[in-house]
Amino acid sequence: MKTQDLINLENEYGAHNYHPLDVVITRGEGVWVYDVEGNKYLDCLSAYSAVNQGHVHPRILQTLIEQAGRVTLTSRAFRNDQLPHLYRELAELTGYEMSLPMNSGAEAVETALKLARKWAYQVKGVPKYEAEILVCDGNFHGRTISIVTFSSEPLYKEAFGPFTPGFKSVPYGDAAAMQAAITPNTAAIMVEPIQGEGGVILPPEGYLAELRRMCDHHNILLIFDEIQTGLGRTGKIFAHRHESVRGDMTIIGKALSGGFYPVSAVLADKDIMGLFTPGEHGSTFGGNPLGAAVARTALKVLVEEGLIENSAKLGEYFIEQLTEIPSPHVKEVRGKGMLIGVELKKSAGGARRFCEALKQRGILCKETHETVIRFAPPLVIDRETLDWALPHIREVLNLP
Ligand SMILES: *Cc1c(COP(=O)(O)O)cnc(C)c1O
Repeated sequence: MKTQDLINLENEYGAHNYHPLDVVITRGEGVWVYDVEGNKYLDCLSAYSAVNQGHVHPRILQTLIEQAGRVTLTSRAFRNDQLPHLYRELAELTGYEMSLPMNSGAEAVETALKLARKWAYQVKGVPKYEAEILVCDGNFHGRTISIVTFSSEPLYKEAFGPFTPGFKSVPYGDAAAMQAAITPNTAAIMVEPIQGEGGVILPPEGYLAELRRMCDHHNILLIFDEIQTGLGRTGKIFAHRHESVRGDMTIIGKALSGGFYPVSAVLADKDIMGLFTPGEHGSTFGGNPLGAAVARTALKVLVEEGLIENSAKLGEYFIEQLTEIPSPHVKEVRGKGMLIGVELKKSAGGARRFCEALKQRGILCKETHETVIRFAPPLVIDRETLDWALPHIREVLNLP
Protein backbone atom coordinates (compact mmCIF):
# COMPACT_ATOMS: atom_id res chain seq x y z
CA MET A 1 0.00 0.00 0.00
CA LYS A 2 1.21 3.48 -0.82
CA THR A 3 1.18 6.69 1.15
CA GLN A 4 -2.31 7.97 0.35
CA ASP A 5 -4.00 4.59 0.91
CA LEU A 6 -2.36 4.23 4.30
CA ILE A 7 -3.31 7.78 5.26
CA ASN A 8 -6.90 7.10 4.22
CA LEU A 9 -6.99 3.91 6.29
CA GLU A 10 -5.60 5.74 9.29
CA ASN A 11 -8.08 8.57 8.96
CA GLU A 12 -10.97 6.15 8.64
CA TYR A 13 -10.21 3.80 11.52
CA GLY A 14 -7.90 5.67 13.89
CA ALA A 15 -8.65 8.36 16.45
CA HIS A 16 -7.63 11.76 15.15
CA ASN A 17 -5.62 12.83 18.18
CA TYR A 18 -2.53 13.67 16.10
CA HIS A 19 -1.78 15.83 13.08
CA PRO A 20 1.27 14.08 11.60
CA LEU A 21 3.21 15.10 8.53
CA ASP A 22 2.06 13.00 5.60
CA VAL A 23 5.07 10.74 5.45
CA VAL A 24 4.51 7.03 6.07
CA ILE A 25 7.66 5.45 7.44
CA THR A 26 8.33 1.80 6.90
CA ARG A 27 11.97 1.41 7.92
CA GLY A 28 14.64 3.14 9.96
CA GLU A 29 18.37 2.79 10.34
CA GLY A 30 20.55 5.08 12.46
CA VAL A 31 19.63 8.69 11.68
CA TRP A 32 17.69 7.75 8.54
CA VAL A 33 14.10 6.67 7.96
CA TYR A 34 12.51 5.46 4.72
CA ASP A 35 8.91 5.94 3.58
CA VAL A 36 6.72 3.49 1.69
CA GLU A 37 7.57 5.27 -1.59
CA GLY A 38 11.26 4.54 -1.05
CA ASN A 39 12.24 8.11 -0.10
CA LYS A 40 14.96 8.58 2.49
CA TYR A 41 14.84 11.19 5.25
CA LEU A 42 17.10 12.47 7.99
CA ASP A 43 15.09 12.13 11.21
CA CYS A 44 15.44 15.39 13.13
CA LEU A 45 12.85 14.55 15.78
CA SER A 46 14.09 11.17 17.03
CA ALA A 47 10.56 10.31 18.22
CA TYR A 48 10.70 13.20 20.69
CA SER A 49 14.20 12.06 21.76
CA ALA A 50 13.26 8.42 22.34
CA VAL A 51 15.67 7.20 19.67
CA ASN A 52 18.81 8.97 20.84
CA GLN A 53 20.69 5.76 20.00
CA GLY A 54 19.45 5.87 16.38
CA HIS A 55 16.80 3.76 14.71
CA VAL A 56 17.01 -0.01 15.12
CA HIS A 57 20.36 0.06 16.84
CA PRO A 58 21.86 -3.37 16.11
CA ARG A 59 23.00 -4.07 19.67
CA ILE A 60 19.64 -3.18 21.19
CA LEU A 61 17.88 -5.20 18.48
CA GLN A 62 20.02 -8.21 19.34
CA THR A 63 19.14 -7.87 23.03
CA LEU A 64 15.44 -7.53 22.22
CA ILE A 65 15.45 -10.67 20.09
CA GLU A 66 17.43 -12.73 22.59
CA GLN A 67 15.40 -11.66 25.58
CA ALA A 68 12.10 -12.05 23.72
CA GLY A 69 13.04 -15.65 23.08
CA ARG A 70 13.77 -16.26 26.75
CA VAL A 71 11.10 -14.56 28.86
CA THR A 72 9.23 -11.28 28.37
CA LEU A 73 6.91 -10.74 31.30
CA THR A 74 6.84 -12.19 34.77
CA SER A 75 4.91 -9.42 36.51
CA ARG A 76 6.39 -8.17 39.75
CA ALA A 77 4.57 -10.95 41.60
CA PHE A 78 7.75 -12.88 40.80
CA ARG A 79 11.30 -11.69 40.29
CA ASN A 80 13.25 -11.73 37.04
CA ASP A 81 16.96 -11.88 36.33
CA GLN A 82 17.21 -8.65 34.29
CA LEU A 83 15.73 -6.03 36.61
CA PRO A 84 18.35 -6.29 39.40
CA HIS A 85 21.09 -5.59 36.83
CA LEU A 86 19.18 -2.62 35.44
CA TYR A 87 18.81 -1.24 38.98
CA ARG A 88 22.53 -1.45 39.66
CA GLU A 89 23.54 -0.12 36.26
CA LEU A 90 21.17 2.83 36.60
CA ALA A 91 22.60 3.59 40.05
CA GLU A 92 26.18 3.45 38.74
CA LEU A 93 25.39 5.61 35.75
CA THR A 94 23.20 8.23 37.40
CA GLY A 95 24.42 8.43 40.98
CA TYR A 96 20.98 7.78 42.45
CA GLU A 97 20.82 4.91 44.93
CA MET A 98 17.53 3.42 43.76
CA SER A 99 15.04 3.42 40.92
CA LEU A 100 11.46 2.44 40.22
CA PRO A 101 10.63 1.25 36.70
CA MET A 102 7.43 2.07 34.84
CA ASN A 103 6.52 2.13 31.14
CA SER A 104 5.44 5.48 29.74
CA GLY A 105 6.84 8.81 30.81
CA ALA A 106 3.51 9.96 32.19
CA GLU A 107 3.39 6.94 34.49
CA ALA A 108 6.82 7.77 35.85
CA VAL A 109 5.72 11.38 36.44
CA GLU A 110 2.65 10.12 38.32
CA THR A 111 4.94 7.86 40.33
CA ALA A 112 7.16 10.78 41.33
CA LEU A 113 4.13 12.87 42.30
CA LYS A 114 2.76 10.08 44.49
CA LEU A 115 6.14 9.62 46.14
CA ALA A 116 6.45 13.37 46.76
CA ARG A 117 3.03 13.45 48.41
CA LYS A 118 3.84 10.49 50.61
CA TRP A 119 7.13 12.13 51.59
CA ALA A 120 5.26 15.33 52.47
CA TYR A 121 2.92 13.51 54.87
CA GLN A 122 5.34 11.02 56.33
CA VAL A 123 8.59 12.98 56.50
CA LYS A 124 7.85 16.69 56.22
CA GLY A 125 4.68 16.57 58.30
CA VAL A 126 2.30 18.30 55.93
CA PRO A 127 -1.31 17.85 57.14
CA LYS A 128 -3.07 14.98 55.38
CA TYR A 129 -4.13 15.75 51.80
CA GLU A 130 -2.85 19.31 51.90
CA ALA A 131 0.40 18.71 50.03
CA GLU A 132 1.07 21.12 47.18
CA ILE A 133 3.30 20.58 44.18
CA LEU A 134 4.65 23.50 42.19
CA VAL A 135 5.23 23.32 38.45
CA CYS A 136 5.95 25.79 35.65
CA ASP A 137 3.84 27.41 32.96
CA GLY A 138 4.54 25.93 29.55
CA ASN A 139 5.35 22.55 31.08
CA PHE A 140 4.86 19.21 29.42
CA HIS A 141 4.78 16.20 31.74
CA GLY A 142 2.35 13.89 29.96
CA ARG A 143 -1.33 13.32 29.36
CA THR A 144 -3.01 11.77 32.39
CA ILE A 145 -5.84 13.69 34.03
CA SER A 146 -3.69 14.72 36.99
CA ILE A 147 -0.87 15.85 34.71
CA VAL A 148 -3.08 17.87 32.35
CA THR A 149 -4.52 19.48 35.47
CA PHE A 150 -1.39 21.61 35.65
CA SER A 151 -0.83 22.08 31.92
CA SER A 152 -1.03 25.65 30.67
CA GLU A 153 -1.92 24.52 27.15
CA PRO A 154 -5.72 24.78 26.82
CA LEU A 155 -5.76 22.16 24.05
CA TYR A 156 -4.25 19.55 26.38
CA LYS A 157 -6.57 20.35 29.26
CA GLU A 158 -9.73 22.25 28.44
CA ALA A 159 -12.08 19.34 27.63
CA PHE A 160 -10.98 17.01 30.41
CA GLY A 161 -11.95 18.36 33.83
CA PRO A 162 -12.73 17.99 36.68
CA PHE A 163 -9.11 18.27 37.67
CA THR A 164 -6.85 17.05 40.46
CA PRO A 165 -6.26 19.46 43.35
CA GLY A 166 -2.86 20.18 44.87
CA PHE A 167 -0.92 21.76 42.01
CA LYS A 168 0.13 25.30 41.27
CA SER A 169 1.89 26.63 38.20
CA VAL A 170 4.18 29.67 38.04
CA PRO A 171 6.11 31.28 35.16
CA TYR A 172 9.08 29.21 33.97
CA GLY A 173 12.53 30.60 34.66
CA ASP A 174 11.23 33.04 37.26
CA ALA A 175 12.83 32.11 40.58
CA ALA A 176 11.07 34.92 42.45
CA ALA A 177 7.66 33.68 41.29
CA MET A 178 8.54 30.20 42.48
CA GLN A 179 9.73 31.55 45.82
CA ALA A 180 6.48 33.46 46.23
CA ALA A 181 4.39 30.34 45.59
CA ILE A 182 6.00 28.30 48.36
CA THR A 183 3.89 27.59 51.44
CA PRO A 184 4.46 25.35 54.48
CA ASN A 185 2.52 22.67 52.56
CA THR A 186 4.76 22.68 49.52
CA ALA A 187 5.99 19.14 48.97
CA ALA A 188 7.87 19.45 45.72
CA ILE A 189 8.87 21.58 42.79
CA MET A 190 8.81 19.71 39.48
CA VAL A 191 10.49 21.22 36.42
CA GLU A 192 11.96 20.36 33.07
CA PRO A 193 15.57 21.66 32.98
CA ILE A 194 14.78 22.73 29.41
CA GLN A 195 11.17 22.81 28.23
CA GLY A 196 11.13 20.59 25.15
CA GLU A 197 7.47 20.53 24.14
CA GLY A 198 7.14 24.10 25.35
CA GLY A 199 9.35 25.12 22.42
CA VAL A 200 12.94 24.38 23.53
CA ILE A 201 12.83 27.02 26.26
CA LEU A 202 16.03 27.44 28.26
CA PRO A 203 15.64 29.01 31.70
CA PRO A 204 18.03 31.82 32.67
CA GLU A 205 21.44 30.61 33.83
CA GLY A 206 21.44 29.86 37.54
CA TYR A 207 17.70 29.13 37.70
CA LEU A 208 18.05 25.45 38.57
CA ALA A 209 20.70 26.20 41.18
CA GLU A 210 18.36 28.83 42.62
CA LEU A 211 15.55 26.26 42.83
CA ARG A 212 17.95 23.88 44.55
CA ARG A 213 18.78 26.49 47.20
CA MET A 214 15.08 27.25 47.68
CA CYS A 215 14.22 23.58 48.12
CA ASP A 216 17.01 23.03 50.62
CA HIS A 217 16.00 26.08 52.59
CA HIS A 218 12.28 25.21 52.76
CA ASN A 219 12.60 21.42 52.95
CA ILE A 220 11.03 20.79 49.56
CA LEU A 221 11.81 18.04 47.07
CA LEU A 222 13.21 19.08 43.71
CA ILE A 223 12.03 16.84 40.87
CA PHE A 224 13.60 17.06 37.43
CA ASP A 225 11.57 15.71 34.54
CA GLU A 226 14.40 14.58 32.24
CA ILE A 227 12.23 12.34 30.09
CA GLN A 228 13.13 14.37 27.00
CA THR A 229 16.27 16.23 28.07
CA GLY A 230 17.97 13.31 29.79
CA LEU A 231 20.25 10.50 28.63
CA GLY A 232 22.57 12.61 26.52
CA ARG A 233 20.15 14.76 24.57
CA THR A 234 21.65 18.05 25.79
CA GLY A 235 25.26 16.87 25.87
CA LYS A 236 25.27 15.60 29.45
CA ILE A 237 23.65 12.58 31.02
CA PHE A 238 21.09 14.97 32.54
CA ALA A 239 20.41 18.54 31.48
CA HIS A 240 20.41 19.67 35.13
CA ARG A 241 24.09 18.71 35.33
CA HIS A 242 24.86 21.81 33.25
CA GLU A 243 24.24 23.70 36.51
CA SER A 244 25.99 21.12 38.66
CA VAL A 245 22.87 20.59 40.76
CA ARG A 246 21.15 17.40 41.78
CA GLY A 247 17.45 16.68 42.01
CA ASP A 248 15.91 14.70 44.83
CA MET A 249 14.18 12.74 42.09
CA THR A 250 14.89 12.54 38.40
CA ILE A 251 12.39 11.09 35.94
CA ILE A 252 13.59 9.37 32.78
CA GLY A 253 11.86 7.59 29.92
CA LYS A 254 11.97 7.88 26.14
CA ALA A 255 15.63 7.07 25.25
CA LEU A 256 15.91 4.72 28.22
CA SER A 257 14.96 1.98 25.76
CA GLY A 258 16.42 3.48 22.59
CA GLY A 259 12.93 3.59 21.16
CA PHE A 260 12.38 -0.16 21.13
CA TYR A 261 9.99 -0.49 23.97
CA PRO A 262 8.38 1.82 26.53
CA VAL A 263 10.55 1.95 29.63
CA SER A 264 10.57 4.80 32.15
CA ALA A 265 11.89 5.17 35.67
CA VAL A 266 11.98 7.40 38.71
CA LEU A 267 15.44 7.79 40.24
CA ALA A 268 15.93 8.74 43.89
CA ASP A 269 18.00 7.93 46.94
CA LYS A 270 16.97 5.41 49.59
CA ASP A 271 15.64 7.97 52.06
CA ILE A 272 12.94 8.92 49.56
CA MET A 273 12.43 5.82 47.40
CA GLY A 274 12.34 3.73 50.57
CA LEU A 275 9.01 5.32 51.48
CA PHE A 276 7.09 3.09 49.06
CA THR A 277 5.94 -0.10 50.74
CA PRO A 278 4.69 -3.29 49.04
CA GLY A 279 1.33 -2.83 47.37
CA GLU A 280 1.30 0.96 47.40
CA HIS A 281 2.28 1.34 43.77
CA GLY A 282 2.85 -0.88 40.77
CA SER A 283 2.47 -1.72 37.13
CA THR A 284 1.92 -5.05 35.39
CA PHE A 285 4.55 -4.34 32.75
CA GLY A 286 6.84 -2.06 34.79
CA GLY A 287 10.24 -3.69 35.32
CA ASN A 288 9.52 -6.59 32.99
CA PRO A 289 12.55 -8.57 31.81
CA LEU A 290 12.20 -7.59 28.15
CA GLY A 291 12.06 -3.88 28.96
CA ALA A 292 14.83 -4.20 31.54
CA ALA A 293 17.14 -6.05 29.14
CA VAL A 294 16.47 -3.53 26.37
CA ALA A 295 17.11 -0.61 28.73
CA ARG A 296 20.39 -2.13 29.92
CA THR A 297 21.72 -2.31 26.38
CA ALA A 298 20.29 1.10 25.45
CA LEU A 299 22.26 2.64 28.36
CA LYS A 300 25.43 0.75 27.41
CA VAL A 301 25.14 2.03 23.85
CA LEU A 302 24.83 5.63 25.07
CA VAL A 303 27.97 5.35 27.17
CA GLU A 304 30.18 2.98 25.17
CA GLU A 305 29.55 4.67 21.85
CA GLY A 306 30.25 8.13 23.23
CA LEU A 307 26.83 9.46 22.27
CA ILE A 308 26.67 11.94 25.13
CA GLU A 309 29.99 13.50 24.09
CA ASN A 310 28.91 13.46 20.45
CA SER A 311 25.74 15.31 21.39
CA ALA A 312 27.75 18.00 23.18
CA LYS A 313 30.30 18.42 20.41
CA LEU A 314 28.09 18.25 17.33
CA GLY A 315 25.24 20.05 19.07
CA GLU A 316 27.49 23.04 19.58
CA TYR A 317 28.53 22.90 15.93
CA PHE A 318 24.93 22.55 14.73
CA ILE A 319 23.73 25.52 16.83
CA GLU A 320 26.65 27.62 15.61
CA GLN A 321 25.95 26.79 11.96
CA LEU A 322 22.20 27.36 12.32
CA THR A 323 22.87 30.71 14.00
CA GLU A 324 24.97 31.81 11.03
CA ILE A 325 22.22 31.15 8.49
CA PRO A 326 20.95 34.51 7.25
CA SER A 327 17.15 34.36 7.13
CA PRO A 328 14.34 36.89 7.13
CA HIS A 329 12.19 34.50 9.18
CA VAL A 330 14.36 33.47 12.12
CA LYS A 331 13.89 35.22 15.43
CA GLU A 332 16.23 33.08 17.52
CA VAL A 333 18.24 29.86 17.50
CA ARG A 334 18.64 28.29 20.92
CA GLY A 335 19.41 24.97 22.52
CA LYS A 336 21.88 22.76 24.33
CA GLY A 337 23.58 19.77 22.84
CA MET A 338 21.32 18.22 20.24
CA LEU A 339 18.09 19.78 21.53
CA ILE A 340 17.73 22.81 19.32
CA GLY A 341 14.86 25.17 18.59
CA VAL A 342 14.69 27.64 15.73
CA GLU A 343 12.07 30.19 16.64
CA LEU A 344 10.47 31.98 13.72
CA LYS A 345 9.12 35.49 13.63
CA LYS A 346 5.36 36.00 13.61
CA SER A 347 5.62 37.19 10.00
CA ALA A 348 6.99 33.80 8.92
CA GLY A 349 3.50 32.32 8.86
CA GLY A 350 4.07 29.43 11.26
CA ALA A 351 6.64 26.65 11.43
CA ARG A 352 4.49 24.00 9.79
CA ARG A 353 5.11 25.12 6.21
CA PHE A 354 8.86 25.09 6.84
CA CYS A 355 8.60 21.55 8.19
CA GLU A 356 6.70 20.56 5.04
CA ALA A 357 9.40 22.15 2.89
CA LEU A 358 12.17 20.39 4.83
CA LYS A 359 10.33 17.12 4.30
CA GLN A 360 10.38 17.75 0.54
CA ARG A 361 14.16 18.01 0.84
CA GLY A 362 14.57 14.85 2.91
CA ILE A 363 14.61 16.22 6.46
CA LEU A 364 11.91 15.37 8.99
CA CYS A 365 11.18 17.98 11.65
CA LYS A 366 8.10 18.74 13.68
CA GLU A 367 6.92 22.16 14.65
CA THR A 368 6.36 22.77 18.33
CA HIS A 369 4.03 25.51 19.49
CA GLU A 370 3.40 26.86 15.99
CA THR A 371 6.49 29.03 15.69
CA VAL A 372 9.40 26.76 16.66
CA ILE A 373 11.16 24.18 14.49
CA ARG A 374 12.85 21.62 16.71
CA PHE A 375 16.06 19.96 15.55
CA ALA A 376 16.81 16.88 17.65
CA PRO A 377 18.41 14.18 15.49
CA PRO A 378 19.56 10.85 16.92
CA LEU A 379 22.82 11.28 18.82
CA VAL A 380 24.62 8.87 16.48
CA ILE A 381 24.64 11.62 13.84
CA ASP A 382 28.00 12.65 12.36
CA ARG A 383 29.33 15.94 11.08
CA GLU A 384 29.11 14.88 7.45
CA THR A 385 25.37 14.33 7.78
CA LEU A 386 24.92 17.72 9.44
CA ASP A 387 26.92 19.31 6.62
CA TRP A 388 24.58 17.63 4.14
CA ALA A 389 21.50 18.94 5.97
CA LEU A 390 22.62 22.53 6.58
CA PRO A 391 22.35 23.85 2.97
CA HIS A 392 18.81 22.40 2.77
CA ILE A 393 17.89 24.08 6.03
CA ARG A 394 19.40 27.34 4.79
CA GLU A 395 17.34 27.11 1.60
CA VAL A 396 14.11 26.46 3.48
CA LEU A 397 14.71 29.25 5.98
CA ASN A 398 14.96 31.60 3.00
CA LEU A 399 11.72 30.62 1.31
CA PRO A 400 9.53 33.60 0.49
C1 LIG B 1 7.36 12.94 26.43
C2 LIG B 1 7.41 13.56 27.78
C3 LIG B 1 6.63 13.09 28.85
C4 LIG B 1 5.58 12.00 28.68
O1 LIG B 1 6.11 10.79 28.25
P1 LIG B 1 5.12 9.71 27.61
O2 LIG B 1 6.00 8.51 27.40
O3 LIG B 1 4.62 10.28 26.32
O4 LIG B 1 4.03 9.47 28.58
C5 LIG B 1 6.79 13.68 30.08
N1 LIG B 1 7.66 14.68 30.27
C6 LIG B 1 8.42 15.18 29.27
C7 LIG B 1 9.38 16.28 29.55
C8 LIG B 1 8.31 14.65 27.99
O5 LIG B 1 9.03 15.17 27.00
